[in-house]
Parts: sequence; structure tokens; C-alpha cells
Amino acid sequence: MIPYGRQDISDNDIKEVVKILYSDFITQGPVIPQFEQAAADYCGAKYATAVCNATSGLHIAYRSIRLTKGDILWTSPNTFAATANAALYCGASVDFVDIDPKTYNLSPEKLEEKLKLAEKEGKLPKAVVPVHFGGQSCEMDKISALSKKYSFYVIEDASHAIGGSYKDKKIGSCEYSDMTIFSFHPVKIITTGEGGMILTNNKELDNRLKLLRSHGITKDKSEMTSQGEGLWYYEQIDLGYNYRMTDIQAALGLSQLKRIDEFVKRRREIANRYDNAFKNLIWLSVSYEKKEVFSAFHLYVSLFDFKKLGKTRKDIMNHLKDKGIGTQVHYIPVYHHPYYRYNFTYKREDYPISESYYEKALSIPLYPKMTDEEVEYVIENISEIKK
Ligand SMILES: *Cc1c(COP(=O)(O)O)cnc(C)c1O
Repeated sequence: MIPYGRQDISDNDIKEVVKILYSDFITQGPVIPQFEQAAADYCGAKYATAVCNATSGLHIAYRSIRLTKGDILWTSPNTFAATANAALYCGASVDFVDIDPKTYNLSPEKLEEKLKLAEKEGKLPKAVVPVHFGGQSCEMDKISALSKKYSFYVIEDASHAIGGSYKDKKIGSCEYSDMTIFSFHPVKIITTGEGGMILTNNKELDNRLKLLRSHGITKDKSEMTSQGEGLWYYEQIDLGYNYRMTDIQAALGLSQLKRIDEFVKRRREIANRYDNAFKNLIWLSVSYEKKEVFSAFHLYVSLFDFKKLGKTRKDIMNHLKDKGIGTQVHYIPVYHHPYYRYNFTYKREDYPISESYYEKALSIPLYPKMTDEEVEYVIENISEIKK
């Protein structure tokens, strides 16, 4: 079976992990700050906080700006539910901004329209979370300009996008945002099994993130109410969580990070091969990359015109599965999920582009370990759907 995505673990990655298993620290130890520093350096950000997955990273990022009941967070409906769920964990409410028909990212034009309306109604968001869908950066200059005008935080969900860049700045540099979150789930660009990281250039946010990651507990005297107790002493000064990453995972992450450019290069090679092979098929649209963007190509999403094909998505997915080719749909619009339907009142007609995108989208296999033969096999089988 050729899956839609999978990890690439080398012998050296394994050696680095085994080394840690022989060491004194297997939970959060010395490798965590090394991994954080390496990621911050790679992205050109000042600070980084490793966490046990991106969902927990989003949660404490939202907590760090004190997102709470009565606050509103906006994001893209074309994302994994976690982006929105984490705001609900904080007691905040969530709303969605429709996507751009070419990039499938949160549309800055729709964002501006919605902000104008929200301003009149006194319902401006406290934070907007652009999601760099499939590895392609959102139009961060426009979003950042709007954030200054309407004063909201910008938190990038870059779960798909480490290794990519925007206007020659690496995703994660936080040049246009307050914080950026990465996921290291095995289908993403680099992996730690489960894992995530939050980058920022803001020292105060970074302090809060590190506190919230570990129960809200501090050992820093300057933060404690009581001084001179003794070596055993620590204080819990906020309600935090255990969202720590282990050194075992960080060792894998550090080793994977050394290979990231090679991973992204191969992903882009395969995407390019697909683009060339499919560009003349009238029932399928190929990938699109904006000029100022260097996509990490986490996903290769094709829009199938199922009407022109005279076949349903279900038929095609089943057919490809029988041929040993895995596909997936990224994403079911978040407001479609029963939890969101039963608890809130989103209207599908408010998101026409998301709706038409969702009708057509299918992600086909893309991962660095894919061989040229496998790529050709996928191309043959997709081209043959309609002869
Ligand atoms: C994978 C993903 C997440 C969640 O990541 P985890 O590390 O699995 O918690 C959040 N947002 C997006 C866009 C994702 O793709």
C-alpha cells in the first residue's frame, strides 16, 4: 500500500534515540533545549518551546494570550479540528473565515470584510489563526497589517509548514505573527512520534508557554511569592498542564531537523512531477504556489471535477485503494462535524468556497521516501481514471 503520507526514519535517527535511552534523562532533560534552540535557529526565531503535540501547543499558545470565556478566535474552516478545539478548551468561542479558491488558505480579503462587520457589531476577535494549508504560507503581510489595524493576535498554525518560507523568511520566524506552532506527527514534515513546538520572538509569551507546559510550576525565585525556603521548594503560580516532550522524542526531532531540507526538496520534486503529469487533465486541478511562497508540500491536494468524471469521490477512493494507493480528504470543514453542528450555529452558506473545495478535494500520496516508481504508478493510475 502506498499511503497518502508517512515518516522517514533513518538508521542515524534511531541511533540518536537509542543513545538517550542509555542516558540519565528520558523525560524532559538536556536534549529538549538543544532541540528548541536548533529549531529556533533554523527558523530565525528567538525562542521555542517543545510540547507533546501541536494540539497542546495551540492550547497553551491561546492560554498565553489569556484567551478565555467571552473572547473570540477566528481560524480557517479548512483545518484539522484541533486548531479550533484548542480555543474551546479555553472557554472562548470560535468563528471561521472562508478560504481562498486557489491556495485553500484563509482569505485575507474575506478576513477584512468580516473584520469590518465585526467592528460594527463589537465582536472583534482576540486572535486570528491562519493555517498554512498543505505547507503553503498564508498571505501573512496582509494578515499582519489587519492585525495592527484591528488589534488582534496572530498565531500561525504551521503544522504543515516547517521547512517552507514566505518572502524569504522561514515559516516559524514569527516575522508576521506573535507565535507559530509546528506539529511533529508522523505524517508531517519531520516527526518525533507525537510532538509539537511553539516559536515566538516575545520573551514574555515564551515564559508563559514554558510555565503552562509544566503545571504552571516555577523554581525561579523572581517569580515566587515566598523566598529563602530551601532547595526543595517550588511554587505553582498558574494552572498549567503536563504537556512536556520527552528527551527520547527530542533526540529524534533533532536528528530529523538535520534532514529537513532534503525532505522538503524531495516533496517538491514529487509535487512538480505530479503537476507536469496532470496539467492537461481537464477534470483535475494541479497544485498552485504563490510567487512569494516556498511551500513545504506537506500535502498534494488535487481538486477532482467529479461531475465531469461521472464518478463519485467514494468510487475513486475505493478504486485507488484496490490498486494499493491511499488517498485522504483534507479537510472536512470544521463546522461540518456533529460536535460543532450540535453546539453552535454555523451556516454553511457563509463559507461558499470551503463548501465547493470540500466537494472536490482529494490528497494523493506525497512523502519523501516515495520512490520514482511509486510516483509513476500513482500517476498512471490516476491518469487512467478517465481515458
Ligand atoms: C496535525 C495538525 C494539528 C494537530 O497536530 P498534533 O501534533 O497531532 O496535535 C493541528 N493543526 C493542523 C493544521 C494539523 O495538520
